[in-house]
Amino acid sequence: MTFASLGLAAPLLQALENLGYQTPTPIQKQAIPAVLAGRDLMAAAQTGTGKTAGFALPVLQRLAGAATPVGSNAVRALVLTPTRELAEQVHASFQQYGQHLPLRTYAAYGGVSINPQMMKLRKGVDVLVATPGRLLDLYRQNAVKFGELQTLILDEADRMLDLGFSRELDAVFAALPKQRQTLLFSATFSDEIRSMAKARLRDPLSIEVSPRNTAASSVKQWVIPVDKKLKPELFLHLLKDRRWGQVLVFVKTRKGAELLVSTLQAKKIPADAIHGDKPQPARLRALEAFKAGEVQILVATDVAARGLDIDDLPQVVNFDLPIVAEDYIHRIGRTGRAGATGEAISLVCADEAPLLAAIETLTKKTLEREEEPGFEPDHRVPMTNGAGQLVKKPKKPKVAGGRKPKNVPGNWVGFDAPAAGPARRTAKPVANAAGKPRGR
Ligand code: AMP
Repeated sequence: MTFASLGLAAPLLQALENLGYQTPTPIQKQAIPAVLAGRDLMAAAQTGTGKTAGFALPVLQRLAGAATPVGSNAVRALVLTPTRELAEQVHASFQQYGQHLPLRTYAAYGGVSINPQMMKLRKGVDVLVATPGRLLDLYRQNAVKFGELQTLILDEADRMLDLGFSRELDAVFAALPKQRQTLLFSATFSDEIRSMAKARLRDPLSIEVSPRNTAASSVKQWVIPVDKKLKPELFLHLLKDRRWGQVLVFVKTRKGAELLVSTLQAKKIPADAIHGDKPQPARLRALEAFKAGEVQILVATDVAARGLDIDDLPQVVNFDLPIVAEDYIHRIGRTGRAGATGEAISLVCADEAPLLAAIETLTKKTLEREEEPGFEPDHRVPMTNGAGQLVKKPKKPKVAGGRKPKNVPGNWVGFDAPAAGPARRTAKPVANAAGKPRGR
C-alpha cells in the first residue's frame, strides 16, 4: 500500500518523499482515510507507531482545501498535547508534512512569555499545537478564537489526564464548537479516557494498532537487581563495559536527574538533564544537543520525556522505575522504533519491587533478571509472580533463644541501610551516601 492510494494529495506526497517515508504504518493506513472522510477517531497507539503523521497528514489535506484564509485570531485545527516537548515535536511534524502547503502552523505552551504568542496568533493559524493550560490563558485573553475550529486532536490523552489536565480539558471542550471533528489518541485506555471519549466523540472509529499495554516486541528488556546506593556506579560500569553510545536515562525525580548528571559530568561524560524545573529553552537545548550527538547521556524525568522524538536510539535505561506503570511503556517506546531493535534495561532495587510487579502485570510479561557480577544486591529484590504480587520470602527457621521480644525495633532497617559486616564487593561506589561524588 502506498500513501497515494490512501488519497493523499501531491504536496503531501512530495513532502513524504523528501522525508523518505515509503509505506504507511498500520495506524496511518487506518487513520488517514477515516480522518479524510471527516470521521471522529479513537486510537490506541503509543509513540513510535507513526500516529502523528496518522492525524497530521489528513488534517493538513482537509485544511488545504479551504476556500478562504483563516480569520484573525482564529484556529482551524487544534492539537492538545500534555507537554511542551510533545507540542514542539508535533508542530515540527506539521511543518515537515505541510512544507509544500500555504498553511500557517504554530505551537504555544507555558513556561515562556505569552506576548509573542499573542502577537503570532493575531493573523490566525491553520494549525495550533498547544498545551492545555497555556491554550486557556490565550483563550481567556481573546488571543485565540474557536469560531472557525473544524478539528480537535487530543494527543496522548491519557497523559494529559495523568498530569491533572482534566479540568482544563473540560474548559476547552466547553469553548469549542459542538460541530467539529475530534480525534483522540492515547497509549492506554483507562475508564476515564473511555468516558471522555463517550461524552465528546461522535460515532468514533476505534483503531488499535498494537495490543493494549504492550511494548514493541523488538525491544529487549531486562532487569538488573542492584542496591539503590550502587546504581550510579553500576550505570557507569555498564556504560563503559558495554561500550554504550547514546543513552536515554529515566529517573524518578528532578533532583535525581541533576544528581546523576553531575556524577557523569564529574567523570567527563557529556550529560544533560531534561525535567520540569528546567526552563523550556534549556530543555530544548538539551534535547537538540542530544539529537546532534553532542550529549551522550540524556537524563529525563517522565513528564519531560513524554513526546521526545529521538530516532535510532538503541539504549534506554530506567535508572529508577516509574511510579506509574504505564510510563514504563512510554519510556521504552523511545527505542526499537520503526522496526529497529533496542534495549531497555531497568536498574531495580529492593524497594522498587512493587513497581516492578505493577509493570509486569500491565505488560503481561515477567522481565528477565540478570545480576551484574560485582553488583549483586545485599538487599534482595523480592520475586514477582506475574500477577502483580510479590512472592514472600520463605521464613527463616527459628533459632533457639533467638526470638526478639515484641516492640524492640531491631528490624527497622531500611532497604538502603548499609550491609552489616565487611563490604563484600571490590568495586568502590562513585557516590557517597549523600549522593556527592567522592573526594569533592
Ligand atoms: P510517532 O509515532 O508519530 O511519534 O512517529 C515515530 C517516528 O516514525 C517518527 O520519527 C516519524 O518521523 C517516523 N515515521 C512515521 N511514519 C513513518 C512512515 N510511514 N515511514 C517511515 N517513518 C515514519
